Amino acid sequence: MRIVVNQIPQEGLNLFEDIQAEELDLGTDMLSFEKPIKVSASVSRITNTLSAQLDISGYMICTCSRCLIEFERPFYKHIRLTYQLETLTQVIDLNDDIRQEIILDCPQNPICNEFCKGLCFKCGKNLNDGPCECSYNKRA
Ligand SMILES: [Zn+2]
Ligand SMILES: [Zn+2]
Repeated sequence: MRIVVNQIPQEGLNLFEDIQAEELDLGTDMLSFEKPIKVSASVSRITNTLSAQLDISGYMICTCSRCLIEFERPFYKHIRLTYQLETLTQVIDLNDDIRQEIILDCPQNPICNEFCKGLCFKCGKNLNDGPCECSYNKRA
């Protein structure tokens, strides 16, 4: 999302944009996005200070750290950013800050749900699908 400084009217400006994750350079081994990220901004300028209130929302695809399935996790952030404008500043690019906020929102060890039983350490079976042979044997 880019803001052209001399296009901000006195009363401020509202912007909406669907941003593709690739544009934000997001996406790692543990994190990906299938749907665009929705950003709405209300921008105002007082002399040399530009401030933007942003609502960022979307869905991140996380890999469960217990059972390794991929699941969709909604996120929502409301942030306020301020930028000092130099005389020659023509465009403010918000994408770096938006990227930072989304990465900060990404959990270190995502889990698909709090009751996730994970994988059996021994045979690797997904225990959410039921007990595995080796725990069955243990019990017998
Ligand atoms: Zn899980
Ligand atoms: Zn097992």
